[in-house]
Amino acid sequence: MASNRRAFLTATAVTALAAAPATAAPGPRPRPPVTARAALDALLAGNRRYAADHPRHPHDSAGRRHLLAAAQHPFAVIVGCVDSRVPPELVFDQGIGDLLCIRTAGQVLDEAVLGSIQYGVEELGVPLVLVLGHERCGAVAATLEHLRTGAPVPGHLELLVDEIVPAARRTRALPGDWAEHTMRAHAAWVRDAIRADPSFGAAHVEAARFDLDTGRVSLLP
Ligand SMILES: [Zn+2]
Repeated sequence: MASNRRAFLTATAVTALAAAPATAAPGPRPRPPVTARAALDALLAGNRRYAADHPRHPHDSAGRRHLLAAAQHPFAVIVGCVDSRVPPELVFDQGIGDLLCIRTAGQVLDEAVLGSIQYGVEELGVPLVLVLGHERCGAVAATLEHLRTGAPVPGHLELLVDEIVPAARRTRALPGDWAEHTMRAHAAWVRDAIRADPSFGAAHVEAARFDLDTGRVSLLP
C-alpha cells in the first residue's frame, strides 16, 4: 500500500513536470527557504507583519500562479486547526505555493494527516513542520465540556475529542486556564509524536500558539 502510494505520488510529480510548457514561467523563479531555520524565520517574520497590520500579501499574483503551475516547492508544513480565525497563509503573510497546510479541528493526528505530512516532508522535501494551536479553540472547549459533564460526544466529533482528552487530563489539576493548558499540552504532544515518527526524520518540527487577540504566534517550549 505504501509503495503504491509512493509510486502514485512520484508518477504524479513526474507527469506534472513533463507536462510543464517551457514558456509557462514568467518572472524570477521562487526561492523558498531551504533550511528549517530559514523557514521558521520566514514564518515568524511574516507573522510579525500580520500582527502589526502591515502584511505584504506576497505571492498571490497570476504570475505566481503560472510560475507554480508545473511544480510546487512549499517551505513549511503547517498542522493547524480549521478555525476560521487562524488561516495560515494570512497569519504568516505567505502566498500561493508557500505553505502546505493540513487543518483539522483541534489539529489532531490521524492517518490522513500523517500521510499528508509525509507527502510534504518526503515527496516535496519540506524542511519544517509547524504544529499551530490557538487560544479559545472550539475542539478543546468541546473536550473539556465532555470531561466536565460526561455527556456523550456526537458522531464524528468523537475522534477529535478522543485525541485531545489525554492533554486535558494531564493538565486538569494545574492552576489557571484549563483550556489554555490543554491547548498547549496537546500541541506539544502532536509535535512530539511527529518528531518521534521515523517517517518524518528529515524535518525539523516545532509547535506554536496563535493569539487571537494580538495575532502573534509564539513557539511553545
Ligand atoms: Zn481550534
